[in-house]
Amino acid sequence: MRVIILGSAAGGGVPQWNCRCPNCLDARHDARGRMQSSVAVSADGESWVLLNASPDLRMQCAAHHELWPRGPRGSPIASVVLTDGEIDHTLGLLLLRESATRLPVYAPDGVTALLGDEWPLYRVLSAYAGVEPTIMLAAFPKGADALIDERAESEISAVIDLISRVRNIRAEMNIKPGDRIQLMIAAKTDLQTVFQASLDQIARLTRAAQVSIDGNVEMPKASARAVLAGGAEVAVPLEGLIDFEQERARLWREQEKLQQEAAKLEAQLGNSDFVARAPAEKVAELRARIVDIAQRTTALDQMLEALA
Ligand SMILES: [Zn+2]
Repeated sequence: MRVIILGSAAGGGVPQWNCRCPNCLDARHDARGRMQSSVAVSADGESWVLLNASPDLRMQCAAHHELWPRGPRGSPIASVVLTDGEIDHTLGLLLLRESATRLPVYAPDGVTALLGDEWPLYRVLSAYAGVEPTIMLAAFPKGADALIDERAESEISAVIDLISRVRNIRAEMNIKPGDRIQLMIAAKTDLQTVFQASLDQIARLTRAAQVSIDGNVEMPKASARAVLAGGAEVAVPLEGLIDFEQERARLWREQEKLQQEAAKLEAQLGNSDFVARAPAEKVAELRARIVDIAQRTTALDQMLEALA
């Protein structure tokens, strides 16, 4: 199967038309934006299915020769599958209106109803095709359970877990987005093979300059670590990346604030009058917050230890 990621940005794309955040500013200056999320898949490389029709669809088709027309009005796009009825996922249907044949659009019942009634896309498109609308709404395709590859699923989720934990570390430790890091991964042999096979993606998505994968790694002391599903472990050496003194102070401040908040909540919950009068959900909410604070405090302790 072939998969093309046509766009990976959230609704509105990057830069977003009215946003002046650092990401959008950079994207404008470097002319390096991202198009709105959509994927094309093909079993044979000839005939393609679009997963959602983004407002950027016209440019997305132009950017990939696989999706170029094969003849006058002969597009390799055979159908569209909608996962939901959001504007960002359906607006592109309007851009497919020149279709010479009726393009099947598979959507869950709720989405079909939405597009037919509340947002009368069907009626709008009718005007373009003469008699019939250029798209043909159909029921959402059923998955074939037999095609699910459990092993591939678990391997890719190990890679996703690793990448998101490292990205988490980057955010937690305030590592600058542009700074390249070093990754040290310790894993059992089978997982080592899995990580090795996805080395490029891991390095790219975590912005790592160096990735080492081993059975047992001597983790450097000043490193942020995470234990992954399947018993693997990852460490990001922090030396030279951040100002330890400053980071410690920041983490302490956060910890102190949390302690104060927890003390206040404990006092509230210790007041039997309050507990008797307050709605049960409110009390449950405060209890949950105390648990969250405890978890966060443990995480902060670990980070402080890495910076000790
Ligand atoms: Zn922005």
